[in-house]
Amino acid sequence: MVSPKYVCVIGAGVSGLAAAKAFSTRGHRVTIVERSGDLGGVWEPARSYPEVQTQSPKELYRYTDRAMPDSYPEWPTGPQVHAYLSDYARSFGLDAMLRLNTGVSGMERRADGRPGWTLALTNKDGAASIEDFDFVAVCTGQFNEPRELHCAGKDGFVAKGGQVLHSSKYNDPALTKGRRVVVLGGSKSATDIAVNAVKAGAREVTIVMREPVWRIPYFIGGLVNFKRILYIRAQEEMFPGWGIGAMSRLAHRIAAPLVWANWRGLEGLLKTQLKLKRCKMVPKERIEDGVNCSVPIATPGFYPMVADGRIKAVLGSFDHYDGDTIVMSGGERVAADVALLAIGYKLGVPFLPAAYQAKLVDADGQYRLYRLIANPDLPDLGFVGFNSSFCTVLCADLAANWLVRYADGQLARQPSAQQMRENIEMMLHFKRVERPAAGVYGGLCVAPYHYRHFDELLADIGTKEQKRGGLAGRFQPPDADAYAKFLASAPDYRAAA
Ligand SMILES: Cc1cc2nc3c(=O)[nH]c(=O)nc-3n(C[C@H](O)[C@H](O)[C@H](O)COP(=O)(O)OP(=O)(O)OC[C@H]3O[C@@H](n4cnc5c(N)ncnc54)[C@H](O)[C@@H]3O)c2cc1C
Repeated sequence: MVSPKYVCVIGAGVSGLAAAKAFSTRGHRVTIVERSGDLGGVWEPARSYPEVQTQSPKELYRYTDRAMPDSYPEWPTGPQVHAYLSDYARSFGLDAMLRLNTGVSGMERRADGRPGWTLALTNKDGAASIEDFDFVAVCTGQFNEPRELHCAGKDGFVAKGGQVLHSSKYNDPALTKGRRVVVLGGSKSATDIAVNAVKAGAREVTIVMREPVWRIPYFIGGLVNFKRILYIRAQEEMFPGWGIGAMSRLAHRIAAPLVWANWRGLEGLLKTQLKLKRCKMVPKERIEDGVNCSVPIATPGFYPMVADGRIKAVLGSFDHYDGDTIVMSGGERVAADVALLAIGYKLGVPFLPAAYQAKLVDADGQYRLYRLIANPDLPDLGFVGFNSSFCTVLCADLAANWLVRYADGQLARQPSAQQMRENIEMMLHFKRVERPAAGVYGGLCVAPYHYRHFDELLADIGTKEQKRGGLAGRFQPPDADAYAKFLASAPDYRAAA
């Protein structure tokens, strides 16, 4: 018998909606608190830069119970994703649970001794209140608190009419028209913005990045959608995973030359297709050593613009500003009107008290989360969307379905605190020692191990169906409709008073 809980979902992005849907479907009362004025998280129009679109193909960037409209292109635009999320919220009554313009500024264990947390809430007028919840789902994402960059001379640069903006604030291409633009960063956002600035008629565009990285074109070799290469189980199995036994290690050793040839082939293809030598942008790192959530998609037009000089690429970072000039770490000087900082976001759960932060995050920044969802020392609390990937909506959906069952003690493989701690230690060892690339973003990234992660979640949930589709299935990207069927095959239950 499961009693209904009063659940607070913090954040109304992709993950918050998934969590609200999963908890309300099981009969819990849900409130979603969102500090912004709209739902959507990173897809909220006010936070989106011009021409933003998904990196993931649309059938991999969707909930299990709602496809994106047929009219959407393979890689939907930001406004389309926002419309999809708004429609999803409306269809499942999640909009009625939403409290917009309400931020969580702190939380403490409930003083009345009952399970749950007391949340400190602040509305947009600054009015503060507190409220008790039986369970809290943290869905605040990894892209919320813009990173800052403090370089000497910034005030002088601004006094001369220069503008310095985080990429999340660049939402009008008119800002770059006719101006000298310098974009700092090597992520997809950085290359998107550089290309957008060229198209918007910027006078000069420079991109400054530490080093070239492998970028994947939407169509590898100009022909094959990258999902058919990078999202498939066969590709994933080339990476030794966590907790594998001696036989599996041996198999990886035997297959190593073939795997090596596979990656060198892909590198060769990318070098030719993207003309990386001509752009002086051949990465030093082997492609397989860096496959994780930070692998960017190549913005269409970026390399051709570098090749023909419309975008000037400088390796390094900003060192300081000198009048209207930005001086780079390598001494290069670039005169600029606008500096756009595509330098990412700070990870963290700032409203969690320090004592709990220490249980959640190790000194080296690695998160202690079982299945990237729950921590045995943080009761009545879970995290959705912290298992980010190349198909984060599906990840959030499965995590939300896992979390509600965990909270209700209804997982088929309900872990004990001890099992969770041991598993967390094993995963931390994997990320720190066996595959350091898995340690990016605090270890909160499942790529390239989507299938392995999903297999674990489904087994925990207790789905009866979990077809892998034989040999052909090894060459298919994850199928959200199939995951809907798998979830539906798990034991059903509903909380009742
Ligand atoms: C430009 C861009 C493109 C991307 N493209 C892809 C892609 O193609 N594929 C992919 O898999 N991923 C992509 N991502 C990653 C993306 O972050 C995830 O796919 C997903 O949108 C994350 O959703 P989320 O709900 O977890 O977090 P968010 O979208 O960040 O939502 C979190 C919400 O929590 C709210 N919040 C935070 N703190 C508080 C607080 N204290 N109180 C109340 N509310 C709070 C925020 O306001 C926000 O609305 C992209 C990210 C960006 C920035």
